[in-house]
Amino acid sequence: MIWKGRRKSANVEDRRGMGMGGKTVIGGGIGSIIVVLLFTLLGGNPGDLMGNTPTTNGSNPAPPMNGSTQEQELADFVSVVLADTEEVWSVEFEKKGLKYEEPKLVLFRDSVQSACGSASSSVGPFYCPGDHKLYIDLSFYEELKQRFQAPGDFAMAYVLAHEVGHHVQTLLNTGEQASSDIKGTNEYSVRFELQADYLAGVWAHHAQGKGYLEEGDLEEALTAANAVGDDNIQKKAQGYVVPESFTHGTSEQRERWFYKGFENGTIEGGDTFRAANL
Ligand SMILES: [Zn+2]
Repeated sequence: MIWKGRRKSANVEDRRGMGMGGKTVIGGGIGSIIVVLLFTLLGGNPGDLMGNTPTTNGSNPAPPMNGSTQEQELADFVSVVLADTEEVWSVEFEKKGLKYEEPKLVLFRDSVQSACGSASSSVGPFYCPGDHKLYIDLSFYEELKQRFQAPGDFAMAYVLAHEVGHHVQTLLNTGEQASSDIKGTNEYSVRFELQADYLAGVWAHHAQGKGYLEEGDLEEALTAANAVGDDNIQKKAQGYVVPESFTHGTSEQRERWFYKGFENGTIEGGDTFRAANL
């Protein structure tokens, strides 16, 4: 992605220097309670995938980035992507006669406190509707590359855009489009998550329109969307899949809804709640 020298968002809250002092954070129990309140990128059972047990203190198996030049570059990169999303969603909201309220992006290491509770990096990037903030541990870039085999800057851009998608859903209250009989179910979650993937694709559509995409970028995002499918994560974590437990959609669905958003470029085409065929 072409990003160097472009505007960085003023909405980045850098908490990388402020650890939580190695305190116990999300375990299986708390995680299962707050999972309905915060929206993650990952389905499956990311705790298993990351090799964490519920009693660990959220130590992250990814190599620490140590405030390196690479990490700073990544911080700059996500700031530019966030700025891009602000511009795109402001315009899209204006088309609907609405004002886009920009979310904050919190950069953290290992664990973080949000209005949705405390969380460790093992849950992956997430959005908390309670404080309208996105939370990302930049080491997830390495997770994407190594564990998910989804390398590249645009893979990370997709991750950020997915979480921004949750913010858009929150502002537009898209969840109310869901029929009442699926509220609170895994099916609701899958439809909601696929909509966030769609919205990430909408952002990518406009990024391409502005000439920011380079050759291979779209493929990086599609590879990442595929890699974080529930079936892929469960297969890697436990060797088999349990479709009834899916919360984010299959690899094929995630890739396809992202691509649909990329092709359409409009909020309207992403009504996953009414889609007969997911
Ligand atoms: Zn999500």
